[in-house]
Amino acid sequence: MRIVLFGPPGAGKGTQSELLAERHGLWHITTGGLLRAAIEAETPLGVEAKRYINEGHLVPGPLVRQLAEKAMSSHGMDDFILDGYPRTIEQAHWLTEFLDERGAPLDAVISLHVPEEVIIERLSRRRVHKETGENYHLDFRPPPSDVDPALIVQRADDKPEAIRERLRVYECETQPVEEYYSEAACFYSVDGTGSIDEIAARVEAVIQQAA
Ligand code: AMP
Repeated sequence: MRIVLFGPPGAGKGTQSELLAERHGLWHITTGGLLRAAIEAETPLGVEAKRYINEGHLVPGPLVRQLAEKAMSSHGMDDFILDGYPRTIEQAHWLTEFLDERGAPLDAVISLHVPEEVIIERLSRRRVHKETGENYHLDFRPPPSDVDPALIVQRADDKPEAIRERLRVYECETQPVEEYYSEAACFYSVDGTGSIDEIAARVEAVIQQAA
């Protein structure tokens, strides 16, 4: 299956992608995660991407496309979940063309809907494992006690100023992507509020329908 998990920052795309990937044996392709790995490794791409990410801006399209293309191709153009891609109309057009040319259309575009106040609360309480990239929430999904607390950090772009900027960017640049997909037969809108398990059950119901 080829799936796009779509939604604003803090909608739960990362958490739900991880769970979905585990349940169905899919590759979790997160462009944000790939960019953070490039930053950590201080590759030329990472060095260039860092200033955009930390300020809450989108990384220029060609840089992210490179990562997305490589990840999809190296996984045989199948059995993947795209988390955080596409994020602009240009990226959505490119993705459609890229997949069509390879006879590999999307099976599902799942859009998670979450009100803004919930997003802000989730992002400001989010923490991430520096090495594995695993997401936690200080109240609802605290890091296990056997994990070294020094490895649990707050993302630079989860600070209040960057959160505000990311939400603004989402509204201007990414929201239109939902409209782009909304007429497609493979588009599903899912309520992204409630517990992780409740949301996972809704996502799973959609996957059963799409399969
Ligand atoms: P995420 O982990 O999905 O919240 O992504 C973190 C950050 O990485 C975003 O705020 C952007 O700066 C950058 N990023 C991730 N995916 C993309 C994309 N498809 N296009 C542009 N920038 C991206």
